[in-house]
Amino acid sequence: TTKASVSAAAGGGGGGRRVPAGLRKPALRIVVTGGAGFVGSHLVDKLLARGDSVIVLDNFFTGRKDNLVHHFGNPRFELIRHDVVEPILLEVDQIYHLACPASPVHYKYNPIKTIISWICNFCTNVMGTLNMLGLAKRIGARFLLTSTSEVYGDPLEHPQKETYWGHVNPIGVRSCYDEGKRTAETLSMDYHRGAGVEVRIARIFNTYGPRMCLDDGRVVSNFVAQALRKQPMTVYGDGKQTRSFQYVSDLVDGLVALMEGEHIGPFNLGNPGEFTMLELAEVVKETVDPSASIEFRPNTADDPHMRKPDITKAKELLNWEPKISLRQGLPLMVTDFRKRLNEEK
Ligand code: NAD
Ligand code: UDP
Ligand code: UDP
Repeated sequence: TTKASVSAAAGGGGGGRRVPAGLRKPALRIVVTGGAGFVGSHLVDKLLARGDSVIVLDNFFTGRKDNLVHHFGNPRFELIRHDVVEPILLEVDQIYHLACPASPVHYKYNPIKTIISWICNFCTNVMGTLNMLGLAKRIGARFLLTSTSEVYGDPLEHPQKETYWGHVNPIGVRSCYDEGKRTAETLSMDYHRGAGVEVRIARIFNTYGPRMCLDDGRVVSNFVAQALRKQPMTVYGDGKQTRSFQYVSDLVDGLVALMEGEHIGPFNLGNPGEFTMLELAEVVKETVDPSASIEFRPNTADDPHMRKPDITKAKELLNWEPKISLRQGLPLMVTDFRKRLNEEK
């Protein structure tokens, strides 16, 4: 019997027996791939705070040790430099699989990086997910995939429900990410059906908050960094395309609720508050600097025109919904960005 199945039988993440009421849940051993990144590091904070042991696997492609430095010295925390494209042997109860070169700038603009990233991105999503599923199968761990709203492509259904199959251009500039995640979802369901792995699938909508990469090209981080640096905010296209922005602590609560719950998903995890990019620029302006200006730039190909999650399923089955609005969450991110930009000087 593996250590994982012993701990699972005691009420751990592998499912099985319920813990009698009044008894404290036994501490779990949890792997977080991509744990040095933006979302991953906030998830690690929550898991360690509730008493679990956490192993982070990260190759630092976009993640940073800084995001986790406050846990160094904690005996329940371990950070391993590892590329999930390579196999690994571990004994744990749960695997949160976040590793993915997610930042759009890596594939949108730099032609050399686009080729490297195409390989990295697809390879990480396919080989990385396969390895983590193989690991989950061997040790009987529960596996959670962080998929994305990008699986819906440029959606023809609005808002998007989990039953929508999407509208993705398979040969477009962003398809390495979209198709990589779609394949990762496919692999997860195949391992569930074929090998009995307990899987969970989250489809994450645009998320923002402290520790986001400063220059990763995502819209919220771009606008906030630009406004703080007294540069014009770059609006792509006419700025009328929409996104729905979720604060990171809401997402982390949703990921944990999904992992601990009895439903496979997929579940949309996002904040239904929908904004055009021009409206977002206005909110950033109000929050950071009333004199901030905007500048229009050409948009990238295949940019989704609108995106907004239907979260009825997560509300009903996970008892989860986001609590923090854009106007409440943005100042928390701005404080962090201001501090980091000052340190850069
Ligand atoms: P991030 O770039 O901050 O984090 C990703 C982490 O994965 C980084 O620490 C990076 O170094 C690591 N990584 C990349 N390739 C790796 C590899 N081959 N091996 C090991 N580690 C590797 O991005 P994030 O915003 O924190 O995203 C986390 C997850 O959530 C990703 O899977 C992403 O696709 C998904 N997601 C995020 C958003 C969002 O708005 N932030 C939206 C949809 C989906
Ligand atoms: N794998 C891993 N750690 C493990 C078990 C498997 O990294 O503890 C990897 C393994 O190297 C393989 C992938 O996961 O590349 C899929 O494993 P599985 O056992 O499902 O497939 P097989 O090895 O039989 O092709
Ligand atoms: N965008 C923008 N200015 C920027 C960066 C992005 O107007 O500086 C737009 C982009 O064209 C897209 C939206 O903001 O319409 C969201 O882009 P992001 O890359 O953050 O997320 P995704 O496209 O993956 O939803």
